[in-house]
Amino acid sequence: MKPISLKIASLTLATLMMLTTACGGAASSTASSQAASQTGIFTPGTYSATTMGMHEMTVTVTVDANAITDIQLEHSETEGIGAPVAENMPKEIMELQGLGVDIVASATLTSEAILEGVTDCLKQAGATDEVIAEWQAKKPEVEAEEDAEYTADVVVIGAGGAGMSAAITAAQAGKNVIVLEKTGSMGGNTILSGGAMNAVDDGSEVAKAHDDSVALHIQQTYEGGDEQGNLELVTILCEQAWDGVEWMKELGMGFTGEVFTVTGGLWPRAQRPSDPEGTGFFKAFQSYLDENTTVTMLYNTTANELLVDENGAVCGVKATGKTGNTVTVNATNGVVLATGGFARNVELREKANEETQLWPTLDESIPSTNASGITGDGIIMAEAVGANLIQMGNIQLLPLGDPETGSLSGNIEHAVESRIFVNEQGERFVNEGGRRDEMTLALFEQSNTTMFIVMDSDTYPTGEELNNFGETMNSLVEAGRAYKADTLEELAEQMGVPAETLTATIEEYNRHCVGGDLEGQEDEFGRTLFSDVEGENDGINDAPFYAAKRVPTVHHTMGGVEINANAEVLNANGEVIPGLFAAGEVTGGIHGTNRLGGNALTDIIVFGRIAGASAAEYTR
Ligand SMILES: Cc1cc2nc3c(=O)[nH]c(=O)nc-3n(C[C@H](O)[C@H](O)[C@H](O)COP(=O)(O)OP(=O)(O)OC[C@H]3O[C@@H](n4cnc5c(N)ncnc54)[C@H](O)[C@@H]3O)c2cc1C
Repeated sequence: MKPISLKIASLTLATLMMLTTACGGAASSTASSQAASQTGIFTPGTYSATTMGMHEMTVTVTVDANAITDIQLEHSETEGIGAPVAENMPKEIMELQGLGVDIVASATLTSEAILEGVTDCLKQAGATDEVIAEWQAKKPEVEAEEDAEYTADVVVIGAGGAGMSAAITAAQAGKNVIVLEKTGSMGGNTILSGGAMNAVDDGSEVAKAHDDSVALHIQQTYEGGDEQGNLELVTILCEQAWDGVEWMKELGMGFTGEVFTVTGGLWPRAQRPSDPEGTGFFKAFQSYLDENTTVTMLYNTTANELLVDENGAVCGVKATGKTGNTVTVNATNGVVLATGGFARNVELREKANEETQLWPTLDESIPSTNASGITGDGIIMAEAVGANLIQMGNIQLLPLGDPETGSLSGNIEHAVESRIFVNEQGERFVNEGGRRDEMTLALFEQSNTTMFIVMDSDTYPTGEELNNFGETMNSLVEAGRAYKADTLEELAEQMGVPAETLTATIEEYNRHCVGGDLEGQEDEFGRTLFSDVEGENDGINDAPFYAAKRVPTVHHTMGGVEINANAEVLNANGEVIPGLFAAGEVTGGIHGTNRLGGNALTDIIVFGRIAGASAAEYTR
């Protein structure tokens, strides 16, 4: 065989290999011609792969014979969550020339998608399994850090919404504050949230328009949790909610002014932030930190143990720094626990579920909406110093998880009023305006524990409008994560449900909406929320129609550390543990058996502020 034929053969092979890869990556002709002479671990060229982070992304990698020379991402990851990872991780991979870079806990989907995309491209470039394994094993070298000891007036553990509210409140009271955060950035679950924050501006025009009041908010919160919540704390939550919104506005956070009913919120009183998801809270917190130097953030620092002085008062925290070094932080005033819940601690949630037997199982087969670091660390640390844990078995699931990941990404609903849930038979099965536990328990009874959200184009007139998680309907449809059709029959076909049943289900539902012969009447499942806030929901009848598949997912843990009205942590005898305060999802006993949608963000701001103020006031 002449050399020229060999060259053609290898060129063809390289081109074919690239064209037939699953992710559709094709090398440029320059790369193909270089391929003939490559002798290293890669076939030089440019390769691309499509992967799914929070949204679909395209990863394009250029390699020479032995190294990555460029990585480009086309993505629409959320600003403040996935976007910074999309910015930094390719640089880290390039610098390391390896794949063992750190996954960012608050953006695991984005991190994993980038790594998957780059790995795919390297495989397209001819990297063998051994090479990939070697690249995955390469970790960035970190210089071992020394053990360190700090002292602050107030020490806060956890940089989610409750922790940052506490820290800034204590700083506003003139204290210097240290915040320990186990991940590399602030946010926790709060930044991933839909941003819906229940608050009533009592007596305002908006409240009047919806027959809403603080009294109704208290009643629904208390009764919605089967009267198991502490009524004193429920009252504080609801009475101080609007102050919390005003405080966030003073810190620079924007709200649209629109109120809506979030799933399981029972009433249109959720305030909608102007920025996507929970990012608005952290833009505001960060701008406070930029202008004030009295709050010091210790990232990549995991608190392990609360320190107690000779009088039994909590006086500091022992933690582990990024390189395994010991970090000790002493508090002159108080210590605030704000480490969030335990939805990602499978062992703990299974044990807690044994108490109530509320859910058939909470083992690893049930995914979670939560960030990976939400593992109940604060609850475990507090119990070790005698804190009383209450209502640990009250665990909330949502029926709205992504079938692959359990996250709320791809959740197409905007507000309760404009959508229904149907099962795989095309039938409604529950009051979609009711309690979260009732909806999810009903979903467990359906085939494959699977349902679809179904709605029409009222909320998405062009498809370019965003859902509550920063995604456009069009992008979800393109990625195959939502269905779109001009008729209900076509929609049913895409969903794989019987068209006749789906059509009949929707006809029946529409009779209760504006203009229907049963308008305003409760339906067979007890649903009363039909009209949207403008009273305009005329039912599901405007093409195009949309649907998205969803499954149960562990969302919120209502049990935790018991606190009183000053956010002081109590022991089993109801006595205050001096020096220890707690706020947010780490606490228990406020929401009872079932937290209303939109009440958790209220909780973290209201009790975060109380905990910060109490910790600042406390002296040993
Ligand atoms: C996807 C999603 C959507 C949601 N949407 C809404 C909504 O729209 N409205 C609503 O009201 N509620 C919503 N919720 C619930 C709400 O977001 C949470 O209950 C709330 O944000 C919890 O805030 P937190 O400050 O208590 O904890 P988090 O925000 O979770 O913060 C806890 C922080 O502590 C850190 N930490 C943990 N352990 C340690 C340790 N040992 N040392 C140092 N740091 C540690 C974590 O890394 C984290 O940063 C949603 C939740 C999720 C997951």
